[in-house]
Amino acid sequence: MTTEIRQRDVVIVGAGMAGLVAGVRATELGADVCVLEKGTRPGGSMYLSAGLIWSYETIDDARENVPRGDPELQRTIVEGLDPAFDWLESLGVTVREPPVELPTGETVVAPTPGANCGKIEPEAFTDRLRTRIEDGGGEVLVETPMRSLRTDGNTVVGVDATTADGEDLEIEADAVVLATGGFQGNERLLQEYVTPAIENLWLRANPWSTGDGLTAARDVGAKTTGGMETFYGHNLAAPPANVTPDRYLELTQYYGPFAVAIDERGERFTDESESDLEHTLAQDTAHEADGRAYYVFDSDLYDDEVFSMGHIGTIVERSADRGAEVIRADSLEAFEEKLYAAGVDGTNAVETLDEYNEAVRTGCGDRLDPPRTDYQRPVDTPPFYAVAVQPGITFTMGGLHVDEGGRVLDERRSPSTLFVDEGHDESVESEPITGLYAAGVDIGNVNNRHYMGGLANALVMGRRAVESAVDDRVE
Ligand SMILES: Cc1cc2nc3c(=O)[nH]c(=O)nc-3n(C[C@H](O)[C@H](O)[C@H](O)COP(=O)(O)OP(=O)(O)OC[C@H]3O[C@@H](n4cnc5c(N)ncnc54)[C@H](O)[C@@H]3O)c2cc1C
Repeated sequence: MTTEIRQRDVVIVGAGMAGLVAGVRATELGADVCVLEKGTRPGGSMYLSAGLIWSYETIDDARENVPRGDPELQRTIVEGLDPAFDWLESLGVTVREPPVELPTGETVVAPTPGANCGKIEPEAFTDRLRTRIEDGGGEVLVETPMRSLRTDGNTVVGVDATTADGEDLEIEADAVVLATGGFQGNERLLQEYVTPAIENLWLRANPWSTGDGLTAARDVGAKTTGGMETFYGHNLAAPPANVTPDRYLELTQYYGPFAVAIDERGERFTDESESDLEHTLAQDTAHEADGRAYYVFDSDLYDDEVFSMGHIGTIVERSADRGAEVIRADSLEAFEEKLYAAGVDGTNAVETLDEYNEAVRTGCGDRLDPPRTDYQRPVDTPPFYAVAVQPGITFTMGGLHVDEGGRVLDERRSPSTLFVDEGHDESVESEPITGLYAAGVDIGNVNNRHYMGGLANALVMGRRAVESAVDDRVE
């Protein structure tokens, strides 16, 4: 085994959305940059995504919709999005052409009303940004995972990686930007932070984001955020449906906020309509229903459209074609029996529906327990449907604690009321770890239970983090 040693100004770990953006920006700023990618291709989860780069138009909208997230990071992203769109256009990337066609064949304008949205074509985008990095004198090394960070005292001075040939690679650098995309691909970390019921979770993301950035940064004293149990995802058709990465979009149900979600006891377990984009329902399916639920609805909803994601009946039939369990019954009596046959308490389920219908018919859904605050429509027109769903985790929302410039904060030099001693004084100012930055999903607490876009964070903070790294180097 040989060890190759290289020197670079900046190392970027991960060639997904944030890492590619950071790589291009680094070359523009004249930095000698190396982008390490663990997977067999660049692009990360962005490559599998619908490519809608969106966030809220104003910081007030963002605060209202994502109240638990960090206000300053949210402001940075909301205000940085239009300049970042302009920047992408300057690279020859077209971003503003809504309405757009999704890989599922549906046409959408924006994922949620009031969003500032652009659209990229993931494969072409990945190729273009990779080429820009290489044309700018940088390199993108695939199948070259970072193993750990190199430090000198409290300063990060590079990374240790493994090359595609299995050799050790040491890269000495002034700055390292972590853009490894979260920890949703790591069963142990998921069990530790998110849910014990990992056997009832689909991964709805690239397979390589296994928390390497988080783990390496924690090993050098990085501070993490709250919301480690929260994630962005959707409910997908449950097994025996066969969910492979090329089917993430087509097997995503999307219409959960309009349906009635019940667990195996036949009971509702959350306000399905809390978020339009289904992510709170997906999280509560993991946390409150052990990852197994049924979406119940009637023919009215079957014939309806979900905002931006198309006809519900089409989603259901597409799922059935891929092996999803879809129950259909022409009467409530038959529905009850079929639910029992599927392992659900059918009597309870029908009682739940009766109670729900009574409440929503009089506009009193918010008095239910759990409440139903939005999309209050009765489920009473046969045939009745129940689709078995299981949460798909796209990315973890908790992660590294950074400042608005993407500098990773030092746990030992951050205020804390837990340990008031020399290292943990509640009055000290937060200090970053010299040389360490993060972008995209590796940053925690932009989203926290609620969601304001994933690609937008990666785009804005990918640029920001590398600009900070270059600025800090000069100072
Ligand atoms: C089906 C689907 C649909 C989506 N649709 C949308 C959408 O329309 N709009 C939206 O905003 N978001 C969407 N997303 C989410 C979006 O893709 C992510 O928020 C975004 O890609 C995050 O960017 P990132 O750079 O942080 O992570 P990623 O793009 O996932 O990149 C992380 C990269 O780091 C690499 N990596 C991990 N560990 C290491 C290591 N040790 N060394 C080197 N490299 C490493 C990974 O291989 C990966 O390439 C979707 C995701 C999916 C899966």
